[in-house]
Amino acid sequence: MKARRRTACKVSSTERPTPYADGRDLPADATTSRLSPSLRFGEISARQIWHAVKAGLSTGDVSERDGEKFLAELGWREFCHHLLSDHPDLATSNFNRDFDHFPWEVDENALQSWQAGQTGYPIVDAGLRELWSTGWIHNRVRMIVASFLTKHLLIDWRSGEQWFWDTLVDADPANNPAGWQWVASCGADAPPYFRIFNPALQGEKFDPDGAYTRHWVPELEHLDKRCLHHPWDAPGEALQKAGIVLGKTYPAPLIDHSKARKRAPHAYEAMKQAKS
Ligand SMILES: Cc1cc2nc3c(=O)[nH]c(=O)nc-3n(C[C@H](O)[C@H](O)[C@H](O)COP(=O)(O)OP(=O)(O)OC[C@H]3O[C@@H](n4cnc5c(N)ncnc54)[C@H](O)[C@@H]3O)c2cc1C
Repeated sequence: MKARRRTACKVSSTERPTPYADGRDLPADATTSRLSPSLRFGEISARQIWHAVKAGLSTGDVSERDGEKFLAELGWREFCHHLLSDHPDLATSNFNRDFDHFPWEVDENALQSWQAGQTGYPIVDAGLRELWSTGWIHNRVRMIVASFLTKHLLIDWRSGEQWFWDTLVDADPANNPAGWQWVASCGADAPPYFRIFNPALQGEKFDPDGAYTRHWVPELEHLDKRCLHHPWDAPGEALQKAGIVLGKTYPAPLIDHSKARKRAPHAYEAMKQAKS
């Protein structure tokens, strides 16, 4: 029998997985620089980092893919700082003023559950607990928790921005509001509003083995990885085996994902109508 060609799996030397470019979205792997607190407080400048990376690229110590991706992220920081200099009210006003008409929900209980990492969505809770314990969250998880607050719970991005401002060790007057506004879709160059993260799928994609989630949400430590990111789907037997009683040892979901997914576009439509 003729051997099948394995072109689909072939990886050329230039496409080899690189720690930063390929690993920066995986919160269980410590592949990002964690330079944000030092940048925030001026212990190191973006210019110094830029030159160090360029030097690494020229000697070959830093791979092209990693170096370029990392510098692009540094570019986002510059972009946020330019935004702040043009919009000093970035933390308080919608960059896209249409959102002044957005019908945000006022729900103090939901906000507190979110802050405490008790939403019933494992990757969301893991991120918020990491923040509370360490003062830092991985970038991918910042996006997931921010999307959950603004698009699932429909809570004003400013409440989340304020919470991050109070708790992050790298709380930055430019990056923080720009990040929040971007995720809420009211920011500069933001994704369309209908892009709403599914937290269970985000968990499966970016924490496939569940190492990050199990670390921060130890109540779920023994749950099979097939249902770790959506424990409400787990068979009773699997929950029992893992010592979990939903609603008791770990919260039931604060809001049903498909309900939230349907509700958000209605709020967006209401905003557009209120504006016209
Ligand atoms: C909702 C939300 C809030 C955020 N709040 C802050 C904040 O208060 N302070 C803060 O420094 N960053 C913030 N970010 C951006 C980003 O999450 C952090 O800069 C990054 O996670 C810091 O980790 P690192 O230093 O290991 O990043 P690396 O991946 O190693 O990146 C190197 C540096 O590039 C800059 N950078 C990377 N990604 C971004 C980005 N998306 N936007 C702007 N700059 C970036 C940072 O200065 C970072 O230290 C926020 C992002 C979101 C989605």
